[in-house]
Amino acid sequence: MQETKFILSIRDLDVSFRTTAGSVHALRGVDLSLRKGETVAVVGESGSGKSVTMKAVMGILDRNSAVNSGEILFTYDEQGQKKTVDILKMNRRQIRRTINGQRIAMVFQDPMTSLDPTMTIGAQIAEAVRVNRGLTGGAARKRAAEVLSYVGIPRAVERLDDYPHQFSGGMRQRVMIAMAISCEPKLLIADEPTTALDVTIQAQIVELVKRL
Ligand code: ADP
Ligand code: MG
Repeated sequence: MQETKFILSIRDLDVSFRTTAGSVHALRGVDLSLRKGETVAVVGESGSGKSVTMKAVMGILDRNSAVNSGEILFTYDEQGQKKTVDILKMNRRQIRRTINGQRIAMVFQDPMTSLDPTMTIGAQIAEAVRVNRGLTGGAARKRAAEVLSYVGIPRAVERLDDYPHQFSGGMRQRVMIAMAISCEPKLLIADEPTTALDVTIQAQIVELVKRL
């Protein structure tokens, strides 16, 4: 029960992938713990398993993966009660309903591939708000403007009607962060959120995430 002092506790995670060239052993014995309010940075060379670890937490491991051992304990409040679940023991539907996008949200590396160029910024944030919060219409739009303003986009209400190409790279990453925090997650995972941005903007995004 000592795990409950952590909101996230990854223990001895071991993941491999089936490929046509045989088995790829991606994670061996990964341990990671996180307390409420804490920030943990995972550092490692390309291909060392950072993304795979975080995908496991989100329940979005690729289909050809196999979890050989380990547990991912996540502790959250449900109607005033502390609840601890092992994400690895949940099916995708359960994870989508209670964890992914609800209590744990993720920001990915490249905001251009994650945003739909044919949809307005506002519609895309509103969609995230609808899926994660059940808000629709004017309420979803209002919430979209709120979170957009919260991540530091000036004149947020007007900018809801812009398309992704009308935003700079840094602003698009702010949009991704706005979508991620629109459900007020307990845990925010950022997987190299600044790699696609230039250095000055990188610093601003890191500052923003720190503030959040
Ligand atoms: P990074 O630390 O750069 O984020 P990854 O977590 O993406 O590294 O990848 C870890 C290892 O797992 C790499 O060797 C990668 O090629 C491999 N891998 C990731 N996803 C798959 C997959 N679906 N099939 C086969 N190998 C994969
Ligand atoms: Mg990665």
